[in-house]
Order: sequence, then structure tokens, then C-alpha cells
Amino acid sequence: MAGLDATGVITGEELTLQRDSSERDENSTSPLVGNAGSSPAGQLKVAVLATSSAGNSTFVSDGTTRLLIDAGLSLLDTTTRLKAIGEDVDEIDAVLLTHPHIDHCAGLPTLIRRWRRGGRLVPVYCSYSTWMDMGNVIPVHHWFREINQSSRWEVGKIQCESFAVEHDTGEPLGFAVQVGKVRAAFALDLGVLGGDLADYIADSDLVLLEANHDPDMLRAGPYAYKLKERILKTHLSNEAACAWISEHMTHRTQYLLLGHLSLSTNDPELVRLMARRELDRLKLGAMLEVIEPGAASGPWVLTSPCPSR
Ligand SMILES: [Zn+2]
Ligand SMILES: [Zn+2]
Repeated sequence: MAGLDATGVITGEELTLQRDSSERDENSTSPLVGNAGSSPAGQLKVAVLATSSAGNSTFVSDGTTRLLIDAGLSLLDTTTRLKAIGEDVDEIDAVLLTHPHIDHCAGLPTLIRRWRRGGRLVPVYCSYSTWMDMGNVIPVHHWFREINQSSRWEVGKIQCESFAVEHDTGEPLGFAVQVGKVRAAFALDLGVLGGDLADYIADSDLVLLEANHDPDMLRAGPYAYKLKERILKTHLSNEAACAWISEHMTHRTQYLLLGHLSLSTNDPELVRLMARRELDRLKLGAMLEVIEPGAASGPWVLTSPCPSR
């Protein structure tokens, strides 16, 4: 298959998934894209449907192709939240999965059942390790598209890239997507963020970054010692997120979304104050959005060269 190496891993070559246009004509019930309209070159619509340990899912579209990054919400929540931004769950073209923790893939079985009933094959891109760990969540193997920690491929005209993050699963991934010159990066569930990866995600118009916990609140919090140690190693603290702002963020980033906040060991207002202080100190003009657990955010419409909501 074009774009796959001998082991079936998608490589730097391109793999293009073309939508069946006749299917769109017959089944489409919503406009091409909510407020993104019919998209000119280099436009991305991004909406975080939710981000926290209770469920993570982000919608990305160039106006023609629609992706979900993670599927941690129920079918009902996914459907309802997509509808609220003018999108239809039955028009999702592919799912990109970061890792097999339940808050990132809980909704996948019911989504797959729904799409199968509708006669649609919606490929799920994830690492082999994630696929194996999920057991029967992706029951039909030809829905599975294997990627690794440095894959590049295309879904429609959206260029997708995966990158390695440190987390406590086999081969966890972060993702970046790009159309024309517009780029968005998504980095949740990662223990550390530095070096090349920090610069790699910084080269983006929109960044969704984890700000999981306040270390003092975590230490004083109700969790068992072992769980506290695990969280410290596998989730990014407010301080680490702010260190990324101060050491790596550039003027390119127009939208900084901070997510995966812990309900019990973080405070959205504290995150907002800390991040705002760094942005102001460095005179970075990005719009800051701290996404509270359970809340949706966006849609944000990224255009080149002038972003607008
Ligand atoms: Zn998570
Ligand atoms: Zn996780």
C-alpha cells in the first residue's frame, strides 16, 4: 500500500484518504463547516470537545476533511458537542489516538459501531502498542492504521504528524496537523517537555498543552503516594507548562490552550494567572484559553496570515 513500509507502518511518504464524494452528497445533513465556511487554502478549525481525566477529544477540520484527536467522550457527548459547533459525528473521516488510557478512547467502540452500521470505514491512526493494549476496542483490523513516533501522512489535505511523548503506556503519541501554512499541535499526557519536542510544538499557530496539576496541591491532595508519584512523572505540571511558555513559545502561536487540568489538584484560575504572567512578561500576544475539566472550547479558526475566531 502506498505510504506504508514493509511492516505496514505509515512512513514519511504520503497516505491520502479520499472521501467518497457520492456519500457526502447523499448523507450530508450539515454545511461543510460551521463558521469556517468553505475553506480557503490554509485554514483550520479546531475545537476541544473536552479535556481532562474524565475525557479527551478534539475536533480538527480544514472545511472538507474532519478528524477527531482522541475519542474519550461518550457517543452522546461527542455527538452533542460536535452538533454545537455545526458538525456531524457521521462526517468524521478519521480518528487519531494518542494512547490507550480510557479518558482518550472510551467512546471509540460505540463510535465504531455507529459508523459501521452506517456503512462507513473511519480509519483509526495509532501506534501498534496502543492498538494491542486496546484489545477489542478496534475490532476490525482494517480500520487500524499503524503509525509510530515519527510518522507523517495525510488525511484528505490535512497533513498529520505524530511525535513521541513520555507517558506510562507503550508508545504514546502527540500530534501536529497542518494545512498550507497553518499548523496546530496537541500535547497532552506527557511527563516532561523540553528540548526538540518543546521547540517542535512551539512552531505552531495553535498549541493545546497540558497543565495538569499544581505540585503543592498534588502533594497535599487525597491520592495515595504511588499515584502522586505516577502523576508527577506522567502529567505536565502548571510550572512545566509555564516553563515551556517562557523558554520555547514564540510569537507564531496565536492560540494557547491549556488543558487536561486535574479537578482535585489544580485550579483553573491559578493556571490562568500563571500563564498570563508569563505571556505578559514576554510580550507574547497569544490568546490564552484555560479549559476547565468537562468544558468545551472553541471553535478556533486559524487562517494564514491573519487568525480570527
Ligand atoms: Zn489523559
Ligand atoms: Zn494517559
